[in-house]
Amino acid sequence: MKDASPQPIHLTDYTPPEYLVDDVHLTFRLDPTATRVLSRIALRPNPDAVSKRFFLHGEGVKAISTKIDGKDVTPRSVEHGIEVDAPDAPFVWEAEVEIDPQGNTALEGLYMSNGMYCTQCEAEGFRKITYYPDRPDVMAPFTVRIEGDAPVLLSNGNPTASGDGWAEWTDPWPKPSYLFALVAGDLIAREDSFTTMSGKEVDLKLWVRPGDEGKTAFGMEALKKSMTWDEEKYGREYDLDIFQIVAVSDFNMGAMENKGLNIFNTSAVLCSPETSTDANFERIEAIIAHEYFHNWTGNRITCRDWFQLSLKEGLTVFRDQSFTADERSASVARISDVIALRGRQFREDNGPLAHQVQPDSFVEINNFYTATIYEKGAEIIRMLHTLVGPEAYRKALDLYFERHDGQACTIDDWLTVFEDSTGRDLSQFKRWYKQAGTPRLRVSENWEDGTYQLTFTQNTPPTPGQDGKDPFLIPIAVGLLGPNGDEVRPTEVLEMTEGSQTFTFDGLPAKPTPSILRGFSAPVILERDTSPEERAFLLAHDTDQFNKWEAGRSLAKEVLTGLVTGDAAPQAAYLDALATMLRDDHLDPAFRALALQMPGEDDMAQTLADAGVTPDPDRIHEAAETLRQSRAEYLQDSLPRLMAEMTVDAPFEPSAEQSGKRALGLQLLKLLTRLDGGKAAQSQWEKADNMTLSLGALACLLDAGKADGPIADFREHWKDDALVMDKWFMLQVGHADPANAVATVERLTRDPAFTMKNPNRFRSVFGAFAGHPAGFHQKDGSGYRLLADWLIKLDPVNPQITARLSGAFETWKRYDADRQDLIKAELNRILATDGLSRDTTEMISRIRGA
Ligand SMILES: [Zn+2]
Repeated sequence: MKDASPQPIHLTDYTPPEYLVDDVHLTFRLDPTATRVLSRIALRPNPDAVSKRFFLHGEGVKAISTKIDGKDVTPRSVEHGIEVDAPDAPFVWEAEVEIDPQGNTALEGLYMSNGMYCTQCEAEGFRKITYYPDRPDVMAPFTVRIEGDAPVLLSNGNPTASGDGWAEWTDPWPKPSYLFALVAGDLIAREDSFTTMSGKEVDLKLWVRPGDEGKTAFGMEALKKSMTWDEEKYGREYDLDIFQIVAVSDFNMGAMENKGLNIFNTSAVLCSPETSTDANFERIEAIIAHEYFHNWTGNRITCRDWFQLSLKEGLTVFRDQSFTADERSASVARISDVIALRGRQFREDNGPLAHQVQPDSFVEINNFYTATIYEKGAEIIRMLHTLVGPEAYRKALDLYFERHDGQACTIDDWLTVFEDSTGRDLSQFKRWYKQAGTPRLRVSENWEDGTYQLTFTQNTPPTPGQDGKDPFLIPIAVGLLGPNGDEVRPTEVLEMTEGSQTFTFDGLPAKPTPSILRGFSAPVILERDTSPEERAFLLAHDTDQFNKWEAGRSLAKEVLTGLVTGDAAPQAAYLDALATMLRDDHLDPAFRALALQMPGEDDMAQTLADAGVTPDPDRIHEAAETLRQSRAEYLQDSLPRLMAEMTVDAPFEPSAEQSGKRALGLQLLKLLTRLDGGKAAQSQWEKADNMTLSLGALACLLDAGKADGPIADFREHWKDDALVMDKWFMLQVGHADPANAVATVERLTRDPAFTMKNPNRFRSVFGAFAGHPAGFHQKDGSGYRLLADWLIKLDPVNPQITARLSGAFETWKRYDADRQDLIKAELNRILATDGLSRDTTEMISRIRGA
């Protein structure tokens, strides 16, 4: 049902819960279309409450009976739930309700995925299971009994009893309802165990469907590494007798940190060398770590309300990024994180969907699981870490766990811990949570008599609902290089607090070259007029790997801008610097692969828009093609030797070392394909014994127009493997010639393996389409129309995924008037759809603006 006018919820309206829950007993009698849920909940009035209203959330549940202290009661239906007259003393609420898991295509609450029962309750899915105070600041221990035919019946906590057709689980740790989980189905487990730092044995189980057992070894190892890392780096030990992960094919998110029973999208846990790429392995390792780390940052200490979402997500993303940096190459991990941040969060921050890391209001919380809450939230924690240093950071975290364990907290609580622990005043720092938008940092320099000065000016553009902004506290990591490339000043963190501020460096024998914002020490856009020679110098000499990469990246962008706006040929100086970097054996191949990677076409569109040029997606695509061709020709002589060096002779391992070599090898293969018409790619395709190499070869064959046979063979070979088929769909969309992109998408949606009921499959086509700017932004609007048609079709099935993919339109104001008109017409058409969900209505309205 569409709400007549969805009402926003405000942070300032927070009031404590009227009743607290001491204990929850649930019984599930599973049935695909008529599951019965019996609840027995011990409640008592909250002494801190400001009213005495007894309200329980509940949506789409059919009441069979409702009782207070054993006596029947008749609840009143109100928005989002029910209201009942209740005693001003402790009492027991009992309810029996019926729900329909089979009919639940939105995949929130209890639903079915390929005959298996599973749940997703964050943020507000528990209210679709039974009546409950479904808010994160109500925490309680749960006992769950499951009755059903399925051979495996799982819930949170420890197993306490079981028999034929039933099982009982008890979770002693008080938790909010969004962390509830239940799974029932025909599953088999990879089993292992872990001894914690205090010597406790924990059973580990990774549950999958029969047939997927061969894809669980890596996930189990990643879990054990995460458990060790959290003990060593944060002193955090696991707290139940068992930790379980279940892989589910139909899942809106990547994975969910339910207490003791994490539920994962199959794409975020299942992997094998034959079916998964190096990128898949790396992502899976990070997600397993992320969800495991939530056990402390999210579960033991949770959020008071959903305005505090970044309290758990920003911190946990920072923790998983640190884990990846420790397990793999720190600088490569940092560069990859920043590419993702700029591609998603900067894009969001620069458009109609820009919002604070701690928003003031929302209509549908599902729309705020964003790059801003997650990735910018993590950047804030990283800045805090930089400002106070690693030792003070660890001390503050110890205090955070000691002070707030078992509580539902706020971002203010978190900052207060840092203030108390370090003695710093963080009131200005807090603006990072409360002011949206990406600050622009302009730099100018001055050199006089051995004294070098850097002057910074910060300015943050207006965002929806926020015009003027106060200066941020920006940690700027700076190092100085001498004329011969030696570092004359090691990295120092400058703390900028004013709108404009000058920093002085004395006693220098010659004018230095500055390396500014090392390690990307703050999520800002640095604006500095420098010569290509200076950037080539930094690319050659900077000791900071991030800035070394950044210098190459900004050179590439400059060349692309020249190609788009004029018809300048790619500069020889740039190509020469690139070739020198590429041949430098001292550099990690993974780093060289990133340095060779072209700036994305969406990234270029934003760069041009920032420079006041209306981006033309076709011209950007042509410019990128021209530059690729020039690079291939310029590097021609080096390619065979470099490719030979990147050959991995040992058996496949998803290690940082091997994957770096394969990544660079594939970048080189792309260049070579432009010269040999796909000969080398064809040979790699025939020989490849792992998915990374065969998919990379297939991509090159698509680019060369020689993939018809291989695409058909690939489909035939992998037709029963859903995750590999997702790659098959995605690759064809991503590598479609812009002129054929719409036709390619239309053809793929007619493929028998396409379904909009599976989020992974839908995203593999339409997510890839939105990520192909020259294909999506057709001049005649056919790309917009096609996406809008499918969003309208998907909305009644799965509002969350529809809302998320609406983000494809968020950059519309960048483009020319004709494209803007075409997009606006589609936005209006979507909004005019009868019964449009609250999720999609909010997103499209925000994108369209007033
Ligand atoms: Zn998370």
